[in-house]
This record gives sequence, structure tokens and C-alpha cells, in this order.
Amino acid sequence: MEITYPFAKVFTDSTNKMNVFFLHDTEHSTFQQIGDIGTGIVDFCELDFSAMVEKVKALETVEVTNANFEDIKKVYCNAVNLLKEKHSYAHFFLNSDLFRNFYNADRSEGEKVSYANFLIQYYINLQTVYVEALEFCLYTQVLTEYTLPERYVMFCNLHPNFIQHILRSMYAIAPITHGKFDTSKLIRFNDPAEVDTKKVLQNIHRDSDYSVSMWQYFAIQSLEEMLYLEFMEMIKRGIRIKRCGLCDRYFVLADKRKRDYCDRIYKGKRTCKQIGAKQKFNQSVEQDSFLQEFQRIYNRMYSRYYRMDAWDSERQTNKMTEEQFKAWTDMASKARLEYRQGIISGNDLLEQISGG
Ligand SMILES: [Zn+2]
Repeated sequence: MEITYPFAKVFTDSTNKMNVFFLHDTEHSTFQQIGDIGTGIVDFCELDFSAMVEKVKALETVEVTNANFEDIKKVYCNAVNLLKEKHSYAHFFLNSDLFRNFYNADRSEGEKVSYANFLIQYYINLQTVYVEALEFCLYTQVLTEYTLPERYVMFCNLHPNFIQHILRSMYAIAPITHGKFDTSKLIRFNDPAEVDTKKVLQNIHRDSDYSVSMWQYFAIQSLEEMLYLEFMEMIKRGIRIKRCGLCDRYFVLADKRKRDYCDRIYKGKRTCKQIGAKQKFNQSVEQDSFLQEFQRIYNRMYSRYYRMDAWDSERQTNKMTEEQFKAWTDMASKARLEYRQGIISGNDLLEQISGG
């Protein structure tokens, strides 16, 4: 399949950052180092799409005509723009998909609008898939009796389609020094004609470990491909995730340091980490007996639903239905958040999840 603009070139290296060139069109590109690996997926899973959906929903009763098509297009672009400040790359790829769709000469105006709706729904559904993938494969507090490779294989057994993804990779000369992408040697030019190619090549190769500083990169055209790439890099590197002790949302454990709180803004200008560290009777999650008991019950329910005792057998043997499990985990997550925020007591927390 041919690659068309806009797309991204993604270089991974020995660090926990992804080096991304966003190619908007043949002449315009931007470079961004995105890190830590895993943050993009976690942020995608925590994204609230409701405002975006609301904007698009307003169009439901509008009949698509040649006269109002431009206005409709604007509504979609504005809706996707709501993600711009909230996520490192979701906006770029969704916007690119919309762009390709709206300028597709083979589709009628009506088809373009239905495809745009399909896209938005598709990514909302993909969020559910990645929430499950993250928890199953990388969340530190479930399936603790299994190793990461076991968990990954079990996940693939449950979702055979997940491993069918194909990513396109290409080669390019890149400023890699000692296994790391060297951003100081990156040329950001407005006019390619002004670049002294000979000098650039010499500069790139001066302290490279390779005869030719050739590096493999991924040509990523959709949000789905990008999420898959980042997720696979997380699995490969064994990057785990944890729930924040204050806001209860997932965050990435970027290094071996022990952390209980995330870096998101909690109140005013202060982050969960700043507030969490200052709490007077600050207890680590590991020392909280209510949360420990919660986790034991949660983990038991989780294993029961996925039938981890018989994970290589058919999924139909589950005793709980997907709806029952989802209803239970939603209830349990809500109770845990309320406990962390001090709204309910530890006994209330355990009573709520045991009674369910
Ligand atoms: Zn937090």
C-alpha cells in the first residue's frame, strides 16, 4: 500500500523516546521527540472524547448538500482540533485521516461524511481495546503471578486479530550516535535547496559507530498504526503502568524509581506528585491494607473472568459475561477513586466491591 501525505517517520533508539518527523506535506515537516514511551498510549486511553462527539452529533439531522459541505467539513476539523492540546499525536493522525477522506475524489459528499463518522467511532472503540491491552499486559497490580511474556501471549490468544497488524518500515541515513538519535545534528530547514548535503553527511558520520549511519524507521500513516507501534515498544522494553494514588488514572513507570503519583495537574497548578508527596499521613499504596485487600479481590475477579487457570482453552468457558465483568470493574474503579479522594472509608470500599 502506498504511503500518502500526511504521515510520520518514527525512529526508535536505545532511549525511551520516540523520534518523530511529522510530514504534513511534501514541503512541511515538524520534528518531535515523544517520551516516555507508553505515555502516548496511556494518554490516549485516558482521553475524553465526549466534547468531540458532541460537536459531531449536532450534524446528525443535517442533510449533506453541496452547499453546506464546506461547513460540515469545518465542524469535523474543529471537533478533532479539540484533541490538539490534549495528546501528543492523536490530533495529527486523526486530522490526516479526515484530510485524506475529505479530499478523496472517489467518494461522494455523503460518503465522506459517513466515513468521517465511522472514523471517529472506530477510534473510540480502539480506546476500549487499548485499555484492555494495557491492563492485561502491563498493569503492575493484576495477573502478578505471570511473567510479561506469558501475559502478552495470553492477550494475543484472546485477541487473535491484534497480532495481525503490519507496520511498514524503511531505511534512511539518520544522525544516530552510540545507539541514540542525536537531535543536535538534526537539520530543520525551510528550503531544502539551501542544505549543503556533503557537509550534512560528513557531520552525521563523524562519530557514528556504523560505516553508514543507516537506521530503520517506521512509516506511520494512521493513529492505529502509531498506537500499535508504541504499544509493541512498551511490551518489548517491559514498560509497566500503575494507577496514580491520587487521581486513580494510569501512568507510565518510566524507570526503576518507586512512584505512587502521576505528573498530571490535580488542583490549581499542582500535580498529583506534588500534592501526594505532601500529604501529612502519606502512606504508600503498598502499606494501605484496604487497597491491598481491594487489589486481592480485583485480581481474583480479573483472573476468574479471563479464566487464567485455563487460558489456552476456549473463551466461551468464561463463567462471567463481558457485560457483567465490565459492570463490576466500572463499579470497583469508581469505589477505589472515591476511597482515594476520601469520599468513602476503607470499609465502605471493601463492602461495595464484595457485595457486587
Ligand atoms: Zn494522578
